[in-house]
Amino acid sequence: MFVGAKCIALCDEFGWYRENFPSRPMIVDGRFLFLDNRPQTVDHGQSSIVNGQEFGGYMLDKLNEIEKAALESLSAIADQSALDAWRVANVGRSSPLMQVFAGFGKLSKEERPVVGAEANRVKAALESALEEKSQAVKNAALAKSLEEEKLDVTLPGREVHVGRLHPSNQQLRRVLAILAEMGFQVYTSREVETDEMNFQMLNFAPHHPAREMQDSFYVEAEGREDNPILMRTHTSPGQIRAMREAAATNPQNPPPIRIALPGMCYRYEQITARSEIQFNQVEGLAVGEGITFADLKGTLTDFARRMFGQDARVRFRASYFPFTEPSAEVDVECFVCGGKGCQVCKNSGWLEILGCGMVHPNVLQNGGYDPKRYTGFAFGMGPERQLMLRNKINDIRYFWGNDVRFLEQF
Ligand SMILES: [Zn+2]
Repeated sequence: MFVGAKCIALCDEFGWYRENFPSRPMIVDGRFLFLDNRPQTVDHGQSSIVNGQEFGGYMLDKLNEIEKAALESLSAIADQSALDAWRVANVGRSSPLMQVFAGFGKLSKEERPVVGAEANRVKAALESALEEKSQAVKNAALAKSLEEEKLDVTLPGREVHVGRLHPSNQQLRRVLAILAEMGFQVYTSREVETDEMNFQMLNFAPHHPAREMQDSFYVEAEGREDNPILMRTHTSPGQIRAMREAAATNPQNPPPIRIALPGMCYRYEQITARSEIQFNQVEGLAVGEGITFADLKGTLTDFARRMFGQDARVRFRASYFPFTEPSAEVDVECFVCGGKGCQVCKNSGWLEILGCGMVHPNVLQNGGYDPKRYTGFAFGMGPERQLMLRNKINDIRYFWGNDVRFLEQF
């Protein structure tokens, strides 16, 4: 302590210096501090002279000031960046507080523990206040983000569009599933056919009037005038291919056949609400020894019940197809009105669902099966037509129009 020292402390730069000053001037808060015993503080430019006060006491006051100012500015802080700046300014290496620590060398032995203890207390107080504030700022930021980024579960989500099978394929698979239960294997045949397979082998002679029912897409190919290439007009050429394939395995005793032939068919038609140039067919073929029309009736009646319900009534009407003899068309009792008569069944109470017949002997012969020994039946139906009946679709063009509004209803 400078008790009774009555010293005058002056800066070197002012040119005068007294030997009795106990130590060189120290820097506090960026300014030179001097002590003298004069009654007033004299400010020499950058320097200030603290008068009439012991240096240790002054340091204690200074620490109090530092603490008060630091805590005050800390209380106003609300965000992390301001907090970081505060940390540098108040507990950083060149902060006023740290400069007090740096000035300990200037204190006397008696002063050092007192000022040191106080400086440590202020340092701890500032650090704990900083810790507390830091936590508060973090909590506030969290609360703010929770508030601002709140998840609004009442917002409708974005709809996920899930693809699915085309309605024709759905119906095709329904039909095939039923036929599979009844022991029919699926046989897929080519869509590009020859006139021979599509017509001649199925008992359509060239210039046969029945060809008129199936105007076709022919492919231009030189030298094939007697057997042009065309898009198949029905799935029936698959009958010949399947029979020949099976007969080839054992020409003397061809095995029995029970197959379903699904697929796309093409006809040169005017596109209207009732006719399209492409459509699916599913055809059934059973060939074996001793197969009769009773088997045909029983099989198709069973099929209709599996398809339209156990109470479905069916009726057979005589018809004509070149590749079957005798031939029939099968009606199922209208499932819309239950047979009473409605728009869908045109008040007849019946809906036509398929054509069928006993395989013509010429067709069996062409397939490699001896018609004297083997008989068989065949039937064909259109999945799109079944869907139209079932769902009251009045225009077949919807099926290939690629209109999602139509397709997504299935
Ligand atoms: Zn009806």
